[in-house]
Amino acid sequence: MEEETLHSEVKKLALVWGPALFNYDFGSEHPFSAVRALQAHTLMEAVGLLKQPEVTVLPSVYASREDLLLFHTRELVEFVQNACVRGHGFLDEGDTPALEGGMEAAEAVVGSSWSVTEMVAKGEARTGMVLVGGLHHAHPGRVSGFCIFNDLAINIVKLRQNFGFQRIAYIDIDAHHGDGVVYGFYEDPNVLAIDFHEDGRYLFPGTGDLNEMGRGAGNGFTFNLALPPYSSDQSFIYAFDELVPPLLRRFKPDFIMLVTGVDAHGGDPLSDMNFSSVSYTHATRTLRTLAEELCDGRLVAYGAGGYNVATCALRWTEVAATLCDYALPEYIPQAWREQFTRTIKEDAPITFSENRTSDNTLPRVEKMVDWFKMKAKL
Ligand SMILES: [Zn+2]
Repeated sequence: MEEETLHSEVKKLALVWGPALFNYDFGSEHPFSAVRALQAHTLMEAVGLLKQPEVTVLPSVYASREDLLLFHTRELVEFVQNACVRGHGFLDEGDTPALEGGMEAAEAVVGSSWSVTEMVAKGEARTGMVLVGGLHHAHPGRVSGFCIFNDLAINIVKLRQNFGFQRIAYIDIDAHHGDGVVYGFYEDPNVLAIDFHEDGRYLFPGTGDLNEMGRGAGNGFTFNLALPPYSSDQSFIYAFDELVPPLLRRFKPDFIMLVTGVDAHGGDPLSDMNFSSVSYTHATRTLRTLAEELCDGRLVAYGAGGYNVATCALRWTEVAATLCDYALPEYIPQAWREQFTRTIKEDAPITFSENRTSDNTLPRVEKMVDWFKMKAKL
């Protein structure tokens, strides 16, 4: 009886939200605006997901200086702080503005991303989702691609230090290569990185070639699925199903991280890919099943990229619903659609459902998958 009571207190899904996260925003003219996450959060509210007793929304919190230094250099942290006090110019080559309050906002992303991750690590929530998080381009000594500090990399270090979870599976389906995390743990055989992205010859940051499979002891623990432009559900789901389950079963992770940037969705202004809703729900559902099988369910999804606001709102709501078995209504609530049109000045979608997309890149992706299977002896 006692066990049953305890079990019922475990949440199915932990989220995090707070005004501090809303400040991680580079302005209305910049693609990485906080409106993306805000619209997703309000859609989750409008469909009733946030009211579920098995869902909890944690308040945002700030990371400490020590937390930032678990992955970043002291020079970088001081550079960001000083540049944000000045409040003009860029933190990198021209993608990430130095704004007043930017330091605190970046600390809020790292702190809040950890609070969700920590709740799952403690076993108080089965899964988690961090809308403003997944800043996968940040390097130890360098800001890059809208990413100031790398919450994902800091979470990996803390999962090990605070909980002894050594083996981390990192699955990144954002359209861009997750270079900050992949290279951050490139020699580490206890981080299995499987990164699906648009071929770096066509998209920022230009890295993530097939041949990059890790270095030293980490050789064989990085898989870069550099997909051809215009790849769709057909190619993505094929590659995902052929590689992710067998690699994870062999690796036996203690914890699974999913970077669920939705910028590979058709119509995203920054990429050339053509995924639909089907890819995101498929990846989330599959990883959830694998997490239940392999690591007591421990799975956290991180928002990352996605630059079409409606896509972010709908796809991230579906990811959250998939994580907590919540049945979404077929139609998007009218009141939410009206506020979306007023705020974003675009028509809102009417329904969640989308048709599975197909492409002519499958033969190339099949070859790539065969090559990986040969390399990994699958
Ligand atoms: Zn991206």
